[in-house]
Amino acid sequence: MRAITRRSRQLQEVNSELQGEIAQRQRVEAESESLISELEAKNAELKRFTYTVSHDLKAPIVTIKGFLGFLKRDVAVGNQERVARDIERVDVAAEKMRVLVEDLLSLSAAGRMTDAPEDVPFGDLVAEALELVDGQIRERGVEVEVASDLPVVRGDRTRLLEVVQNLIENAVKYMGDQPTPRVEVGVRIADRPGGGDRPQVLYVRDNGAGIAREYRGKIFELFQRLDSDTSGTGVGLALVQRIVEAHGGRIWVESQGRGHGSTFCFTLPR
Ligand code: ADP
Repeated sequence: MRAITRRSRQLQEVNSELQGEIAQRQRVEAESESLISELEAKNAELKRFTYTVSHDLKAPIVTIKGFLGFLKRDVAVGNQERVARDIERVDVAAEKMRVLVEDLLSLSAAGRMTDAPEDVPFGDLVAEALELVDGQIRERGVEVEVASDLPVVRGDRTRLLEVVQNLIENAVKYMGDQPTPRVEVGVRIADRPGGGDRPQVLYVRDNGAGIAREYRGKIFELFQRLDSDTSGTGVGLALVQRIVEAHGGRIWVESQGRGHGSTFCFTLPR
């Protein structure tokens, strides 16, 4: 009887060992499956990226080649007025390429930190960004309000300045036909119904064009633009998102829809 009990205990042990091994194997399989699908998604993104970059870089080259052809013809017949117009078109297309290449270079650097993380008063970043965007702010007559209780954040100063500058630039640029344009930079504590650690949310709010619900995720994708009539490359928000995420933060946009302004919110480590 005792021998049977011992045997059954041994069997139970072997059984639970086997169960443990199976569970471990299942965990490893699940991990490698999720790694594979992550790699597949990255690969698809890379393909999309290469396709759009080549397409967007090709467009100004086609314009430049086309207008160089016109230029030759207009120089040959001595049409000064058209010569000037052709040169202007070549110039605009070349500038578009320059901006795009510059944006792509910043994007490729966005996931990496270039400077060591430091404590930066967020208010200093906002003041610096406002100086850089001053021309556009004055031109559009935008009233700017900056909260006095902005926190100190931790990160790569240069990259964080890019975030603030891009968001303020966009807020000013996408004002639509708002007669009293206004931009507000502030901080609030996140609502968390379950309590727990409530992160502080920094935000750049405008009372401009707003964003329809279906585009709120899309605009953070590379080259996604809702207004093709304003200048831009569609790289800005992709860049901003990468920088915020590289800092361990999160970014999203809140808007009541077209014509109702937008609030770009993000978290950063303290
Ligand atoms: P770009 O400004 O070069 O077009 P972004 O990536 O910065 O590229 O922005 C993507 C798109 O998101 C813009 O083309 C615009 O349609 C929309 N957008 C960005 N910021 C705002 C804003 N504050 N209000 C309304 N729309 C915005």
